[in-house]
Amino acid sequence: MERTNTLEALLARGRAEDVAIGAPGRPGLTYGALRELVAQVHASLRAWGFQREDRIALVLPNGPEMATAFLAVASATTTAPLNPAYRADEFTFYLDDLQARAILILEGMESPARAVARERNLPVLELVPTPQGPAGHFTLKCEAPPQPSSSLEEQAHEADVALVLHTSGTTARPKLVPLTHGNLTASARHIGALLGLGPGDACLNIMPLFHIHGLVAAVLASLGAGGQTVCTPGFNALRFFSWFEEARPTWYTAVPTMHQALVERARRNVESLQSHRLRFIRSSSASLPPQVMEELERAFGVPVIESYGMTEAAHQMASNPLPPRSRYAGSVGLAAGPDVAIMDDAGTLLPPGVLGEVVIRGPNVTAGYVNNPEANARAFTHGWFRTGDQGTLDADGYLRLTGRLKELINRGGEKVSPLEVDTVLLDHPAVGQAVTFALPHPKLGEDVACAVVLREGQGVTERELRDFVASRMADFKVPRRIVFLTELPKGPTGKVQRIGLAERLGLTS
Ligand code: ATP
Ligand code: MG
Repeated sequence: MERTNTLEALLARGRAEDVAIGAPGRPGLTYGALRELVAQVHASLRAWGFQREDRIALVLPNGPEMATAFLAVASATTTAPLNPAYRADEFTFYLDDLQARAILILEGMESPARAVARERNLPVLELVPTPQGPAGHFTLKCEAPPQPSSSLEEQAHEADVALVLHTSGTTARPKLVPLTHGNLTASARHIGALLGLGPGDACLNIMPLFHIHGLVAAVLASLGAGGQTVCTPGFNALRFFSWFEEARPTWYTAVPTMHQALVERARRNVESLQSHRLRFIRSSSASLPPQVMEELERAFGVPVIESYGMTEAAHQMASNPLPPRSRYAGSVGLAAGPDVAIMDDAGTLLPPGVLGEVVIRGPNVTAGYVNNPEANARAFTHGWFRTGDQGTLDADGYLRLTGRLKELINRGGEKVSPLEVDTVLLDHPAVGQAVTFALPHPKLGEDVACAVVLREGQGVTERELRDFVASRMADFKVPRRIVFLTELPKGPTGKVQRIGLAERLGLTS
């Protein structure tokens, strides 16, 4: 049986004495200690009677224990990380939807997840961080194990599911995606190779570990390359620069809204940026406005690599390459992991330059959503997986995304790409952030609306902004309404949800 494409095999490459997992202000956990921890937890879970297919919900704050718990629990069963900030109703939805077999929670942590688990008679596993121990070291306690048994340890196979995750729910009810050891290791190794990661690299991990971006890019790609991942309690623009000085990372990865906040802080932290070890910055999970990319490159003095990822692909699908190869602002780069092509509605692959739906296939792509035959029937066609994103490939293989098919605004039959309108608005010197969305309209069906956040100390009127857009785009794309906000409303992964935004902002036409 194939054992090379498993998470344990991925961890096997790091030198025993090198640090695998770090955390600000704490000694690092070596690869040797990490492998021992994984083996101990595996043995405990088996002794308590948990089986490979049992889904254990991880309800843990962001940090090194979340990273090590994920690796250890995935070696024996199936992990299901959940956002610890969820309320009772959300835990009810997620625990039921994924048919959790147990929850794993930090010892002493108050969380509505406990009550929800108790109502369902689910065993509660408690993670106890080792006092004064290295980052991420812990022991596990289990009250009421399912059925104490003496079944032997058995290693994972590449086809075993290691992780189930819900998609971000940006366009519809979140869908449950199973990812195997094979899917995760393929993706992690590909990211590591693309970024030239090695034992000398350290990632400053500010991404939440209950989503695919942080788990695969920040944690697994680092560990698969024998490098280090320094796990913070989560994104914090104010604390970032002190973590940055202490950890001396060679890279970090984040979503565009985080980069944007960091660019703004960078001006006040010029000293931290003078003698760093950074090689590059990675951006993924949402479109990176070219202006932000430019400012980030200027502030940090390193290339910004934009990548394209999704839960169903165990994160990465395409990426711009590192120099000396070309990266283009506004393009998500070359196929990087799976094969990438453009397809029309009928299932025909389209030539370069022609707009259609982005489709992918390869070892990192999920075999299909759990209990969702309609979504599977739509997504899997002609041997490809439909991403729901629209774009074009140029003759050199660079992919440009024009938006999500579901987010296109249908203004009386004229299709408007909200991303295109955002990009024009962001070119205005007063605009810091912009998000375009559909405004329900009695005659047209939908009209174009936009929410903007102005840059500090800048002022502009709605009329001036509309005139600015009108000077650069056809009339039907010009936003009918522009509202000014101090912050854009974001979903749990830091993404702006265009669908339903008009309603959430209380806008009517
Ligand atoms: P749901 O599928 O539940 O609606 P979601 O698609 O936001 O939510 P994720 O899997 O977290 O869930 O996100 C994947 C999507 O994020 C991609 O399909 C794409 O639309 C978007 N995305 C990721 N990277 C980029 C990027 N670099 N540029 C533009 N969009 C991106
Ligand atoms: Mg999606």
